[in-house]
Amino acid sequence: MRAGLLDGQETARAIREELKFEVAEILKSKGIVPKLAAVLVGDDPASDAYVSMKGKACKWVGVESETFRLPKDSTQEEVESLIDRLNADRTVSGVLIQHPVPKHLDEMAILARLEVEKDVDGISRNSLGSLITGRKAFKSCTPLGIIELLQRYKVAIEGKHAVVIGRSIILGKPMAHLLLDLNATVTICHSRTIDLGSFTRQADILVAAVGRPELITGNMIKPGAVVVDAGYNRVAGRSGDIGDVEFESASKVASLITPVPGGVGPMTIAMLLRNTIEAANQFGNGVLVEN
Ligand code: NAP
Repeated sequence: MRAGLLDGQETARAIREELKFEVAEILKSKGIVPKLAAVLVGDDPASDAYVSMKGKACKWVGVESETFRLPKDSTQEEVESLIDRLNADRTVSGVLIQHPVPKHLDEMAILARLEVEKDVDGISRNSLGSLITGRKAFKSCTPLGIIELLQRYKVAIEGKHAVVIGRSIILGKPMAHLLLDLNATVTICHSRTIDLGSFTRQADILVAAVGRPELITGNMIKPGAVVVDAGYNRVAGRSGDIGDVEFESASKVASLITPVPGGVGPMTIAMLLRNTIEAANQFGNGVLVEN
């Protein structure tokens, strides 16, 4: 039997409908419209495309958005002074610093400069520290979107063995912590893991967050497992984005699986919107609307 789809596209669409309603409620109760400020340093076309996609998503739900562009040779001080300005700006509910920034800049220091209440991407060290220590802060959007997707499909997490492949700060590590907080037993694999398949074959829930096209094949998956593919890879000679999981063979073994595209990607954007709206609601920052 073929696996069912964990449809991120459809789930994100449903979430956007709910968010539209929340935006209207905030306008009614607080007289403000949530606003996302995106900071884009340099001229990387992929980053440019992501930021414009996020801007469009804001529009769908009635969130304002503005992109602040800085040249690729900007200094650390110039970027940090923009962050200071956005921290102080009461019309800005949340700030997204588009990753990656040019290599000469200290990205973690830039993120750390951002007020934790405005870190709607949830990836500054303050936000990540809060995640690990159980304090309230916005959670990293991609792992949060994966959890939301699993929960909306009623995938049981407690007591299950979750295996996360990848230990990056934006994805693998927060993913493992979110699963741990929901009482999964978690194994983290990485590039130095010996015999990856021996771990993945034990997973009730397998999250691939690697960045290696089709690294995970059907014979590495436990029959009936739930498989989440966060990977987005470009492969010469093939069109579109390719996941970290070989979909054809994996979907013959798994019970549920995310497609690429249309799985984790739309959920990440939905969570960015949700965090921005929550920031406006909680902290009262947003664009004032005259009655
Ligand atoms: P990253 O920072 O490059 O981290 C990749 C992780 O995979 C590292 O921890 C690395 O291990 C591990 N790894 C690499 N090769 C491996 C192998 N052969 N076996 C086991 N582990 C291996 O990447 P990332 O930023 O976490 O992103 C991972 C993927 O998710 C990429 O395809 C990216 O495009 C995608 N992504 C998607 C979204 C979304 O919205 N859907 C958001 C972010 C990222 P070491 O630590 O040992 O190097």
